[in-house]
Amino acid sequence: MVSDTFINLAYLVAASLFVVGLKGLAHPRTAVRGNLIGALGMLIAIVATLLKGNLSFELIISGFIVGALVGAILAIKIEMTAMPQLVALYNGFGGIASLLVAGAELLKEVGVNPDPSTQMMVATVASGIIGAVTFWGSLVAFAKLQGVVVPDQPVRYPGEQIVKIVLLGLSIGLGVLLVQNPSATEYYWYLSIFASVLGVLLVIAIGGADMPVVIALLNSYSGLAAAATGFVLNNNVLIISGSLVGASGIILTNIMCKAMNRSLANVLFGGFGAIQETAKADDVYGGKVKSTSAEEIAMLLETARRVVIVPGYGMAVAQAQHAVRDLFNLLESKGVTVEFAIHPVAGRMPGHMNVLLAEADIPYDKLIEMDDINPTMEQVDVAIVLGANDVVNPVARTDPNSPIAGMPIIDVDKAKTVIVIKRSLSPGFAGIPNPLFAADNTLMFFNDGKKAVQEIISAIKEA
Ligand code: NDP
Repeated sequence: MVSDTFINLAYLVAASLFVVGLKGLAHPRTAVRGNLIGALGMLIAIVATLLKGNLSFELIISGFIVGALVGAILAIKIEMTAMPQLVALYNGFGGIASLLVAGAELLKEVGVNPDPSTQMMVATVASGIIGAVTFWGSLVAFAKLQGVVVPDQPVRYPGEQIVKIVLLGLSIGLGVLLVQNPSATEYYWYLSIFASVLGVLLVIAIGGADMPVVIALLNSYSGLAAAATGFVLNNNVLIISGSLVGASGIILTNIMCKAMNRSLANVLFGGFGAIQETAKADDVYGGKVKSTSAEEIAMLLETARRVVIVPGYGMAVAQAQHAVRDLFNLLESKGVTVEFAIHPVAGRMPGHMNVLLAEADIPYDKLIEMDDINPTMEQVDVAIVLGANDVVNPVARTDPNSPIAGMPIIDVDKAKTVIVIKRSLSPGFAGIPNPLFAADNTLMFFNDGKKAVQEIISAIKEA
């Protein structure tokens, strides 16, 4: 049909669009455009593949329609707070697709050529192992975050690392046998089974609190599996896009680990999230917590010159971002300087707070990164902690036994007055009490995030 040169040129254009699209995703202002550019690249890659000929149009178009429908329905229906689970599922689908496509290609190839190239065989084995680990690992990550089937706590047992090493060894050993003897295709399915069990065991041993990091890592794996399948199919655009996903996933994993002050090895093998001896809530809070009202907060804000809002997961749950924008506009119109302190792992996925605040049209230059705002916290008159908990918990600095020990936090406790908006004294994601709530300069406003902000706005207007 169409010449190979034309197809490869189209793939090159598609790959370049992926790179430009990724660059756009690095900033909220250009993210939507970046997404569209990436999607355009994908469309070009699909059309070029269709034009290659010798493929079943009906199959590709039906795959395209079914995939687009499932993707669109999921994207519309999913709650913003359940985004990590959705990403986990997408990674899993990528992994199983690589495993099946490489397996199908193997069966096809050995049917016509009893001696396939070593490159193809090694790539097939890599697709099978990484694809299976990604698929099953992602399903377990999904189940942990969704709270179904598997426990949220890490599942540990004696000798677990040895079991995993044996499983990995068996998968690789079968892979070597398959490379040496390509017609023994049953080895492919056996190695996929061992790698599947390995995927389950790898992720089941990690606590729910670390799942977002694991998901970023599995995202990287899904890219590597796709790149390997690209080598199986000799498809350049798949190799490039898979490598891009592989590289960006590992960069994101690294950023998240740094933000939690953890090494990747500690995330994977440390069993974070296991029940640990931490201070009891009664000892931390007993008789020391002071609650406040919208009217009192309005009075404090009236006299403040600099206010910093620290959003967290609760802002996402309450969908309070639009109310927050109204409060921001109101205070700025009264001459108060209002900034937002953004912790890299606030919420449940990287960039969670940036996305929500950008959606509410908060100017980007008002979103200040943790490292930039912390040195100035002592000059803040009022810090409003809105549905954040772990990312402002001072025990990260003081208690080396705490599960969040060493995690950098936003130093709100150094502000002159701290107002914490949340519904109760319940803990955050890490499941530990927060002495900030009992600090001398803290006032608690127990309320839903959105209702609380709306009440504060009314109180300021009525004052
Ligand atoms: P937390 O999960 O620590 O706390 C959220 C708080 O929001 C809860 O204490 C809850 O208290 C409150 N809340 C829930 N619903 C509402 C509501 N409707 N209105 C008001 N408040 C509400 O959130 P943070 O953002 O501070 O911390 C994120 C945590 O997630 C960290 O432990 C981080 O390590 C972890 N994590 C995040 C990742 C990321 O990429 N962002 C990745 C991996 C882990 P109450 O029920 O009393 O209202």
